Amino acid sequence: MTHRAILLIALLLAGCVGPPERGPRQSKAKLTAPSAELKQCMRALNALDVTYERTPDRKFGGGCNIRDAVKVSKIDDVVLSGAGSMRCPVALKLAQWLQQDAQPAARQTIGSPIRAIESYGTYACRPVNNQIGGRLSEHGRANAIDLAAFRFANGERVSLLKGWRGDNRDARAFLRRAHKSGCQHFSIVLGPEANRQHHDHFHFDLGPGTYCK
Ligand SMILES: [Zn+2]
Repeated sequence: MTHRAILLIALLLAGCVGPPERGPRQSKAKLTAPSAELKQCMRALNALDVTYERTPDRKFGGGCNIRDAVKVSKIDDVVLSGAGSMRCPVALKLAQWLQQDAQPAARQTIGSPIRAIESYGTYACRPVNNQIGGRLSEHGRANAIDLAAFRFANGERVSLLKGWRGDNRDARAFLRRAHKSGCQHFSIVLGPEANRQHHDHFHFDLGPGTYCK
């Protein structure tokens, strides 16, 4: 077996990373009347200038489902790429974190506001850290988002992969503030210090319990 193949298998077994997260296949599911919670959440997204569309509720095997979800393309003027359906409260927390904490952190460290966020995905039906037989990941309920990199108005791009332990002090400071403030909005936050599986992205979720590393 080649080193590449071994690495690939290791990544597949590992966790949050693995193959690119794909959303569910094109669905023929139709939108039903939104729940009161969803309506309230979408009003809050509108108030924060989030560009999104509602996505239909879906049920999959293994307890995986998508409910009260939206697909976000922009938060104010920040483009979000790579993200599929996510539960509306995840989108709302993401927008609040971005506007209240990540943008001020970007201005103070990088000296330039965030213009784009690159995500590794939201929905993926799999157990925690891809361990067979493990508890279902919050990704299996579209209740999580993985963030891999940020682009700023000055043209700079800061990725978790290169920036967390890289030479650029401003990038390191920005990523640490982004991570720490994420914990004030999400219940579970994992980053490069959490484990090997998160060496290249932040995992933010709204599952039960609290954990910040
Ligand atoms: Zn994740």
